[in-house]
Amino acid sequence: MTIFRTTSPLHADEKIEKEELFEITLRPKTFEEYVGQKQIKKNLGVYIAGAKKRGEVLEHVLLYGPPGLGKTTLAHIIAVAMGGSLHITSGPAIEKPGDLAALLTNLREGDILFIDEIHRLKTIVEEILYSAMEDFALDLMVGNGPGAKSMRLKLAPFTLIGATTKMGSLTSPLRDRFGSIHKLEFYSPEEIELILKRSSSILKCSISPEAITLLSRSSRSTPRVANRLLKRVRDFADMEGDHEISVKNAADALRHLGVDSAGLDETDRALLRVIIEKFSGGPVGLSTLGAALAEEKETIEEIYEPYLIQLGFLQRTPKGRTATPHAYAHLGIIEKNPPRPSLFSKES
Ligand code: ADP
Repeated sequence: MTIFRTTSPLHADEKIEKEELFEITLRPKTFEEYVGQKQIKKNLGVYIAGAKKRGEVLEHVLLYGPPGLGKTTLAHIIAVAMGGSLHITSGPAIEKPGDLAALLTNLREGDILFIDEIHRLKTIVEEILYSAMEDFALDLMVGNGPGAKSMRLKLAPFTLIGATTKMGSLTSPLRDRFGSIHKLEFYSPEEIELILKRSSSILKCSISPEAITLLSRSSRSTPRVANRLLKRVRDFADMEGDHEISVKNAADALRHLGVDSAGLDETDRALLRVIIEKFSGGPVGLSTLGAALAEEKETIEEIYEPYLIQLGFLQRTPKGRTATPHAYAHLGIIEKNPPRPSLFSKES
């Protein structure tokens, strides 16, 4: 399969490129290798088989969920299964309508266009996508002022795969043009263990079952985090001259990285601490939280919060974010005014 990538400012950094190379090595290439997400694999398998049988291109696919859960990986697998070339880009990398027009006119029949962070497309760019998705046509305005004319250009039938971490930010005209929409779930500890075993065998590093279990519990239920932890832990074992990664190597590395027993890092803990210590446990608005932590609100919302919510440490309420009793317990902080059981609760 041929892969074309539109460079975005995000990919300019050499360190990121090295991380990418590491991810590419470990990236599953088939549905069989792709762990978990059973329902999505089953549904996509049916749609792919149907499209191939009819000799059509696959309907546009939208994948959503927190970063590192396997959206880009699924795009690669779909492209392999459909036998088309994969063109990778991202919402922020497409700056003007002309950039998207150039991408679209380069596609051949059956090609897959993957747009990561599709919720960050500019409106003028997004509008070009509507007719491209619906009619495989490009509506262009030629000339300026009263003499301007609209021109329609035919495109080769293609499949758009959009990925987003923020489903709520997608406009409904765009969302409605996808044939199927799939939500990626966090992985179970057993699934993360499988991923770690697979990765360690690809990397030819031997690791004890106890170390795998410890890493799996600290991986935020996320394959990308699991693989990155494995890489760091392997460095620790190499430094010690150990041939097999032991549970001690894993524990040392996690301590060094500031990752605790629930998989929280320093920023996660700082976020919970700020809510508890500065805002009496909440509710506190996202912008205020961002200012207090010196973090972008999008980073808090898309990267940190989903896992804290999944753990039951944080709640999103209409008035803002609140820390739950589980968060207090995890940080070893005593709640000053714990909520009293309601007179009308089931227990009473
Ligand atoms: P996203 O696009 O959602 O941010 P990626 O598809 O880039 O996430 O996944 C990050 C890395 O995690 C991949 O390089 C791959 O090695 C690993 N990975 C993701 N999903 C799976 C899976 N289901 N099975 C095995 N490895 C996975």
